[in-house]
Amino acid sequence: MIARMIESRELAPDVRHFVFDVPELAEVKFQPGQFVSFSHLIREKTITRAYSISSTPEGNRFSLCLNRVADGHMSPHLFDMTPGDTINMKGPIGTFTWRNRERPAILVATGTGIAPFRGMIYDELSQPNARPITLIFGSRYPQGQLYGDEFRMLATVHPRFTFIPTVTRPDETWTGQTGRVQPLVMEAIGDQRELEVYACGMKEMTEDIRNRMKELGFDRKQIIVEKYD
Ligand SMILES: Cc1cc2nc3c(=O)[nH]c(=O)nc-3n(C[C@H](O)[C@H](O)[C@H](O)COP(=O)(O)OP(=O)(O)OC[C@H]3O[C@@H](n4cnc5c(N)ncnc54)[C@H](O)[C@@H]3O)c2cc1C
Repeated sequence: MIARMIESRELAPDVRHFVFDVPELAEVKFQPGQFVSFSHLIREKTITRAYSISSTPEGNRFSLCLNRVADGHMSPHLFDMTPGDTINMKGPIGTFTWRNRERPAILVATGTGIAPFRGMIYDELSQPNARPITLIFGSRYPQGQLYGDEFRMLATVHPRFTFIPTVTRPDETWTGQTGRVQPLVMEAIGDQRELEVYACGMKEMTEDIRNRMKELGFDRKQIIVEKYD
């Protein structure tokens, strides 16, 4: 099927929020956290890449959050698209979706790994008995705190949602946590064992979280991972 770009806006340097629709469908059905697969002929080769949906289902529209990978194939192409341009799409597909909704959840993201969590969080917080959610979001710089204002706002209106932003290179304006996400995840887990941890981003971080949880004795079903590389 064909996805059409409707609009895009800058979230941070080299990171944009994109809105697409699928003109041939009245509704794009998916579970928050799933991804779409885009294909395009680039330098005479068909390139296919996955992108997590960053919104909840809403008619035939969905949004993405992606960064331009310097020298990459697909991401520079998507950044060059203008409203009305189209691309081949498959999906939505994927199993990075809410599992045991009875348990509290700790969500861990770095960079554009925040994308699936945005839709998942809005979805969960719209439920009458939303599970407690702690979002730990790491970026290099304060400007890289994608959707940071949205998450801060959500945390003020939803007592079951806690937002813990952290940056590794703070400036003088930064008042949040500093350093990597891992120690904050360990702190948030504490001595709790009846919870789930979802981690999304590059494999160095997601594998580290998985290993640390294994060492703490968690069952593998309690750690749900989406790797971008
Ligand atoms: C399930 C899934 C969901 C994904 N969702 C997103 C998403 O929501 N947003 C998003 O920006 N990317 C996402 N990705 C990564 C995306 O599919 C591409 O790998 C990325 O856009 C680079 O593709 P490219 O063709 O531009 O670069 P390529 O020509 O493939 O160059 C690849 C290089 O870029 C690195 N790389 C891959 N992803 C990233 C990244 N996000 N940031 C920095 N370097 C990267 C790789 O390690 C490799 O060194 C997802 C990947 C998977 C598997």
